[in-house]
Amino acid sequence: MRESDTANTEIGNINAITLLDTSAVLNVEEYASSQSSQGRTGFPKQGGQSLSYWLQQVRCDPLLDHRTTPELPKEADTVIIGSGITGTLIAKHHLKTWPEKSVVILEAREFCSGATGRNAGHCKPDQWRGFRKYEKAFGKEQAIKILKNEQDTWEALVEYVRANDVDCDLWVGDTLDVPLDDEVAKIARDVFKRYKDAGGKVDHIRVTHDPIEATKISRIKTAKAVYAWPASTLQPWKLTAHIMRSALSKFPKRASLQTYTTARSVTYPNSSSSQKCIVHTDRGDISCNTVVHATNGYSAAIEPSLKCLITPTPHMCNKMIPPRTWCGSKAIQNSYGVLLPDGALFSINPRCTADGVVMFGGSNPGQRELDEWIEKHPERCADDSFARVESVTKCMMQFVEKEFEGWKNGRFGPGEGFDYSWSGIIGRSVDGVPFVGEIPGKPGQWICAGHHGHGMARIFTAAPGLVKLMNGAPWTETGLPDVYQITPERVERLLGVSNVSKVAIV
Ligand SMILES: Cc1cc2nc3c(=O)[nH]c(=O)nc-3n(C[C@H](O)[C@H](O)[C@H](O)COP(=O)(O)OP(=O)(O)OC[C@H]3O[C@@H](n4cnc5c(N)ncnc54)[C@H](O)[C@@H]3O)c2cc1C
Repeated sequence: MRESDTANTEIGNINAITLLDTSAVLNVEEYASSQSSQGRTGFPKQGGQSLSYWLQQVRCDPLLDHRTTPELPKEADTVIIGSGITGTLIAKHHLKTWPEKSVVILEAREFCSGATGRNAGHCKPDQWRGFRKYEKAFGKEQAIKILKNEQDTWEALVEYVRANDVDCDLWVGDTLDVPLDDEVAKIARDVFKRYKDAGGKVDHIRVTHDPIEATKISRIKTAKAVYAWPASTLQPWKLTAHIMRSALSKFPKRASLQTYTTARSVTYPNSSSSQKCIVHTDRGDISCNTVVHATNGYSAAIEPSLKCLITPTPHMCNKMIPPRTWCGSKAIQNSYGVLLPDGALFSINPRCTADGVVMFGGSNPGQRELDEWIEKHPERCADDSFARVESVTKCMMQFVEKEFEGWKNGRFGPGEGFDYSWSGIIGRSVDGVPFVGEIPGKPGQWICAGHHGHGMARIFTAAPGLVKLMNGAPWTETGLPDVYQITPERVERLLGVSNVSKVAIV
């Protein structure tokens, strides 16, 4: 690989890396789409949105349309906008940090019906693959910190679920990264070695470069190598609901969840007011001292200074019921990141401890067609009504039929095979890492957003980190990678970045 001493934040937003002497590329960001035009934004779609498998499972849960009080509170200490995993965790840590302060959580639609309630259910800490990209973008030290933070985040999530006995189908086991092409395997090997040589922790990763062994371990016919390390899958809506429910029941006087309430803008009142901000919603205004934007992909719609920094992108997830030849004792026992030759990736979550239904997310190669369509129809950029996008479903079907022995030959009965797909909105930050902190030029307004397709491996530490900052702690106390911090300099620099490349030669 060609060396470079200079960090380049443009590289932070790429999906894949390659070597100079090959046309193959290695995916370095699960769930990423190809580069999108900047500056577009939108509020959560009202009506017609697709229903994820997670949301389908909880249709009679009263939390979906919960309003703690029928009237919207007129005042609160803090208003949190968004009830995904970010907003919900911030509410939990806020209520614990300040025993006297009240919190109102606003949600535009059903509780947790954004990306968290629609994702592929993977909490997979990147433990090596993104190293070269982050190193190139932010330097070696930050690259190592980012991967360490993902491990910390996964551990924190698992610990929470276990300590609180959360019913969310948690699975803990080996996730397998499997390159399907010699060139991709070569890049992967290079990146892994480079990470190890840099002092990255790899002793928990089991690697095989023998294709026969790789096929045996992964059950994927053309596997060229396998990288295996611990990760999780889970039902993300149920986890988030558990956290919200326990916050509402522990702090009934100070916590208010208001679903079906879209916040439209935040303004500052005239100087005689004792409170700092006014949140304007479709159901009236709330005066408060502090606002938290936990709005991820939708952030720039309510806070225009975030335009070009966070971009919403529709993304697909497919659900498949395995044929009988892949059930029972033959059911899939691992989650996967299947690394395709063109920089695409299938993220596979087979719900091993639950119903065995297999979710296919990730940078499916067919996603590019949807991305191109969105480029031509930017008004649909925050639209999660997409379902059964032919190109995406086709690529997944071709993959399982070609690579999973016996899958195609199984006689499919009604209720087996491809079931359906849904979409959700990913919040892409322009340099590939989230924004955490006080929004520059907006005193009293905080943000934790821009988690790309990887929030489950970031937010369990980013959200409590934000609450520490709100409490006056210095950045170092958050334990988060420094490059996650939103600063005037970062914003200024990124607003100067016009177009970033899809693939970087590093
Ligand atoms: C199809 C798909 C698959 C994915 N798969 C994975 C995966 O397997 N693993 C992984 O780690 N990550 C995955 N991701 C990404 C992950 O889901 C996100 O990074 C994470 O859920 C972000 O959480 P959040 O709470 O910040 O945002 P969200 O869950 O999007 O929550 C934001 C909330 O804010 C609300 N909101 C927005 N604007 C307003 C407003 N103005 N007023 C009121 N409410 C508002 C929205 O309705 C929404 O509920 C996937 C994403 C998608 C779309």
